[in-house]
Amino acid sequence: MLDSEVGKLIEIIGRLPTLGERSAHRIVVHLLKRKHTTMSSLIKVLQNVYDTSVKCEICNNIDVSTPCTICSSTKRDKSIICVVSDIADVWAIERAGFYNGLYHVIGGKLSAVDGTGPKDLDIDGLLKRMEKNNVSEVIIAMSADMDGKTTTFYIQSQIKCKDVKVSIISHGIPSGGEFDYLDNSTIISAFKGRQLLN
Ligand SMILES: [Zn+2]
Repeated sequence: MLDSEVGKLIEIIGRLPTLGERSAHRIVVHLLKRKHTTMSSLIKVLQNVYDTSVKCEICNNIDVSTPCTICSSTKRDKSIICVVSDIADVWAIERAGFYNGLYHVIGGKLSAVDGTGPKDLDIDGLLKRMEKNNVSEVIIAMSADMDGKTTTFYIQSQIKCKDVKVSIISHGIPSGGEFDYLDNSTIISAFKGRQLLN
């Protein structure tokens, strides 16, 4: 069976984040038993998301339009940009429901171990946005592990606009903790307790 299409499905699902082979087996059995309901809906929704999702040309978020819903909203404060490493961080901060500014997803963190350098991240895009728009504050929201701190320091060193406030979220974020693992109140207090760097 494992050489069959079902085997391929188990292998692909088992490679998804947080899942392993045993979970993949359970999921595939679940789907096969519900072929005409759950599996059919999953196929349709996956195809729809595949067809409609697009990366925002401004902030790198993924949405159904570019500019994304956040960048094109007239209700958001366009003078504040929160810099995050990943789209999942945008979703976690949005879920907490208190932040009303914009985002910039740089697409990772600087890492000597993984060989991720400044050119692999969209930091230039952030600097260009700051030059062109009336930005009053940049909130750098990286995790508190070594790579997060290195990335924060690098971004800070690249920001030359004197009249823009640069702040970092307070380190109530557990070391290495990504936003999507945190509850809303921890995220809110990390933002409220943010420290000015300049
Ligand atoms: Zn956007």
